[in-house]
Amino acid sequence: MVFDFDCTLSSKHVYHFINAHSHYLSRYHFPYIEAMGLPPSTPQRLEELKCISTALRRLRPLVKESDRTLFVDECFHGWARLRGLKDFLLTLQNKYHADLFIASRGDKDQIVNCLKELDPSHVGASTTTISSQKMSSLFPTERVFGQDVNKADLIKYLLGNPHVGTPSEPVSRDYQIVLYVDDCKDEHHEMLNTMWMQRLPHRKKDSPLTKQFEVYQTRQGKLYIYCKSLEYNGTGITTEIMRDCLLILNDHL
Ligand SMILES: [Mg+2]
Repeated sequence: MVFDFDCTLSSKHVYHFINAHSHYLSRYHFPYIEAMGLPPSTPQRLEELKCISTALRRLRPLVKESDRTLFVDECFHGWARLRGLKDFLLTLQNKYHADLFIASRGDKDQIVNCLKELDPSHVGASTTTISSQKMSSLFPTERVFGQDVNKADLIKYLLGNPHVGTPSEPVSRDYQIVLYVDDCKDEHHEMLNTMWMQRLPHRKKDSPLTKQFEVYQTRQGKLYIYCKSLEYNGTGITTEIMRDCLLILNDHL
């Protein structure tokens, strides 16, 4: 299972939050604040966000619990969404024995550092319902890929394409099925342009998968399943898409 990071696992663009903070604020805070349902951007709040951004850019941990909560509220739409996301990832890992990967155009070290901020050791009493499983352990460092690894190449590698070299980090290959969720369609199109695959018809006529996903088969019979309906730069993976991912795996495994 391969996830993009920004605006897929996160609800907003964490790379921009960290590395292009002014651009991020102009995009998410100033013009659309009421439409986005965000708390008022008081000068104090904007200063707090800037300090969090600076710390994460320097790969420093967030010291104050209130800063972690503000970061999670800002970029992951709060602990409740994160709890649902973590439950989904745990189900993938424990029930379906899926290996979880992150493929991003962002900075690997920053992503690894951010994942640590989502761990329960950083969570206070008000959020004790979060699973004790650490987010950073769900995505081990060797399964997090940043800008130096082309996403389409990674997926082709996972599907056992012999023409794609080994990523710098050794990972398993020859998976029979790769499910890919990304809010950006470019890598998907690159996959289709560079790898022979046949799109498979949906087996269930009225399945919600018809709307959300496309299924392709390689010459070797392996499946590449792509989430086509995640909104670009939207609010991240939704509960509907999570549910459909599990339906797909029920169907194919
Ligand atoms: Mg993205």
